[in-house]
Amino acid sequence: MEEFDVIVVGAGPAGSIAARVLAENNLNVLVLEKKQEIGSPKRCAEGINLKGLREVGLEPNPKWINNEIDGAILYSPSGKQVKIEMPESHGYILERKIFEKYLARDAIRAGARYMVKTRALEVIKEKGKITGVKAEFMDREMEFKSKIVIAADGVESKIARSAGINTINKLSDYHSGFQYEMCGLNLSDSKKLHIFFGTKIAPKGYLWIFPKDKDTANVGIGILSSESEDGKRARDYLDKFIENNPEIFSSASPIEINSGGIPVSSGINTFVEDGFMIVGDAAQQVNPIHGGGIALAMKSAMIAAEVASRAINRGDVSEKSLQEYERIWKKMYGEKLRKLYRLRMFLERLNDDDFEKLAKILEGRDIMEIVEGRYKFLAKLLATSAPEMLSLMRKFLT
Ligand SMILES: Cc1cc2nc3c(=O)[nH]c(=O)nc-3n(C[C@H](O)[C@H](O)[C@H](O)COP(=O)(O)OP(=O)(O)OC[C@H]3O[C@@H](n4cnc5c(N)ncnc54)[C@H](O)[C@@H]3O)c2cc1C
Repeated sequence: MEEFDVIVVGAGPAGSIAARVLAENNLNVLVLEKKQEIGSPKRCAEGINLKGLREVGLEPNPKWINNEIDGAILYSPSGKQVKIEMPESHGYILERKIFEKYLARDAIRAGARYMVKTRALEVIKEKGKITGVKAEFMDREMEFKSKIVIAADGVESKIARSAGINTINKLSDYHSGFQYEMCGLNLSDSKKLHIFFGTKIAPKGYLWIFPKDKDTANVGIGILSSESEDGKRARDYLDKFIENNPEIFSSASPIEINSGGIPVSSGINTFVEDGFMIVGDAAQQVNPIHGGGIALAMKSAMIAAEVASRAINRGDVSEKSLQEYERIWKKMYGEKLRKLYRLRMFLERLNDDDFEKLAKILEGRDIMEIVEGRYKFLAKLLATSAPEMLSLMRKFLT
């Protein structure tokens, strides 16, 4: 049986960043990816910002960037717009199919080994300890040994569950995502993200248009999975929106369909056990307000890989030793993600009138503060402009 220092399951953004960092630290790494082509199909609106890239040592590369974004326009149910100008945050719309291949190339050039079309089936346990992974490559079962297994296998994370860690949350902590990549759109501003709210547009969620160039965009929706029912699924709402907005869509056609679950909790409780770590969507390390997870997945993978490298060099891959990753992550993001989770609870209880009021009283910079989890000022604002929302705010945001 072949032996490695670390086996990484999944070659998404988290898996390939982990693999690169481990290989740069001179460890012997194997990455298993079930898809036959890394990055395809995408399940993503492809938005990221410069900070998210730089945090893991990446610089924007025109080969995998479609468009630069300088802000966002939020639309209330009646169409009132709140504009957010944020040229300094340097937003980008990626071409994820190419981006992920580049991340894999970086890891391979650093020394990692990749296998595609290779599905990890379960962890191997010896005397109760995880010692490797059983996998299937083209109908052939194979076993690989390692000191540490890193689960970077996305929202379903079967491999973490095979290790005995529960990565499944309640249905109301997932969004159902559905998206068309469309061409032939008539966009009012192709340098802005367009985000639409309303209980009839995207109940307990939102609908987005993320422009990839002047007439092509990811047009998608995420609604709370527990709201989804026959005739009222994410796709039904998106199709209705497209039909109701001919000024944008009358000449447009889809060139791709994507769908997938988006975790919107504030993360699972346990990320590690003896010889085992969970990163990215598998650990639900996603912003619960908008479901964005690429940057957080890559950052968590980088932290986990550094901790794994130190643990292997010390010769101690016990849960206690690997918990350093959990501590660093929770210190950096724990409180912020919990605050954003409470903000999500607040937003989900708003009706269309509340959204209209907020659109009237909030400015772009207020919204930037709120989505960073800094919402103390909101109480003062609501006290004067919308006192009927104060009790809801006190319940969730204090
Ligand atoms: C519709 C939609 C839109 C989104 N839009 C955005 C956005 O605009 N910006 C943003 O930041 N985030 C967005 N997200 C979230 C983002 O896509 C994820 O947070 C991100 O992909 C997480 O990266 P990851 O590497 O943890 O997981 P993934 O990207 O899911 O990668 C997991 C990899 O593991 C592989 N795998 C799974 N099981 C196995 C197995 N058993 N064996 C081997 N390989 C396996 C998969 O094939 C996959 O390649 C969106 C999500 C959805 C669904």
